[in-house]
Amino acid sequence: MPLNNIKIEANKSLSRLTTLRIGGPAEWLAEPRNINELENLLSWSHQKNIECKAIGAGSNLLISDSGIEGLSICMRKFHGFNINPLTGEIKVLGGESLPCLARKAANSGLKGLEWAIGIPGTIGGAVVMNAGAQGSSISKILKSVQVISIKDGEIFELDNKDLQFSYRNSLLQKENLIVISALLQLEPGHDHEKINRITKLNLHQRTNTQPYHLPSCGSVFRNPKPLKAGTLIDNLGLKGTRVGGAEISKIHANFIVNRSQASASDVRQLIVLIQKKVKDAYGVLLHPEVKQLGF
Ligand SMILES: Cc1cc2nc3c(=O)[nH]c(=O)nc-3n(C[C@H](O)[C@H](O)[C@H](O)COP(=O)(O)OP(=O)(O)OC[C@H]3O[C@@H](n4cnc5c(N)ncnc54)[C@H](O)[C@@H]3O)c2cc1C
Repeated sequence: MPLNNIKIEANKSLSRLTTLRIGGPAEWLAEPRNINELENLLSWSHQKNIECKAIGAGSNLLISDSGIEGLSICMRKFHGFNINPLTGEIKVLGGESLPCLARKAANSGLKGLEWAIGIPGTIGGAVVMNAGAQGSSISKILKSVQVISIKDGEIFELDNKDLQFSYRNSLLQKENLIVISALLQLEPGHDHEKINRITKLNLHQRTNTQPYHLPSCGSVFRNPKPLKAGTLIDNLGLKGTRVGGAEISKIHANFIVNRSQASASDVRQLIVLIQKKVKDAYGVLLHPEVKQLGF
């Protein structure tokens, strides 16, 4: 159904919009490219009294086999950025790809996003999840975000300190807000060749130690600090365990990979199995990092 030039599609499969390649249909799906389209979508959903949910690159999502009710707003076409190489400030839209931005920042001699190269999400998803790696995270370079309220369409800014960042968590996981854009502060004036080298090395290191060749959602569980979820699972000999088409990766035990047409139910069963085994052996309850929608 076209709405002021934006397509709203009914009963559209979401599996191709997740990195796990799993998920039933969205009751309604739209991919806005700018703020006007996003505002139109929100008013349409208000008029029809339909619930809305934003998704990014779907790289931290497990979507149920029966799909998601209401309007799923996929933000990946809402992209673009503006880098100031002199000040190190970057204004970036919520759907911009994190690895793409990391590359551009490195090319401009800006330091601060080298860790982000292997995280296949969007800026919005990274802020919601406080994505991070190698001791760094988006919260360390974020000045503020601009958000739109799903409830009433109000647009406002939130400063870093308002976002209650902690390990893989932020206020935005509780609020009905969509990240429209973010303002990042990186360190200017670095040798771009050196930053590029570090960025490439980081990617190389990750693709050597994590199963990037198969569909996954990255780490399934948060680390129960100071312990590592992957080590606990690995020590129990669970690598390679399968339910249906889903498998605990043989390369990294905190990854569940989609070996062949896995269902969300296969993945959920593996999650529960891991939680039980780890709890029985160590008395530790592992909490999923992956966001589970439509269950
Ligand atoms: C191979 C692989 C490696 C990974 N490595 C890492 C890693 O090292 N570190 C790490 O932290 N993560 C990692 N991840 C997980 C994932 O990439 C991050 O959590 C990422 O930040 C999710 O971004 P996304 O755009 O894909 O969000 P999605 O997965 O689409 O959504 C995640 C959550 O954010 C919400 N959301 C998304 N966009 C918006 C928006 N614009 N406004 C409001 N809410 C929004 C969704 O509703 C959902 O609750 C990895 C994933 C994969 C597949």
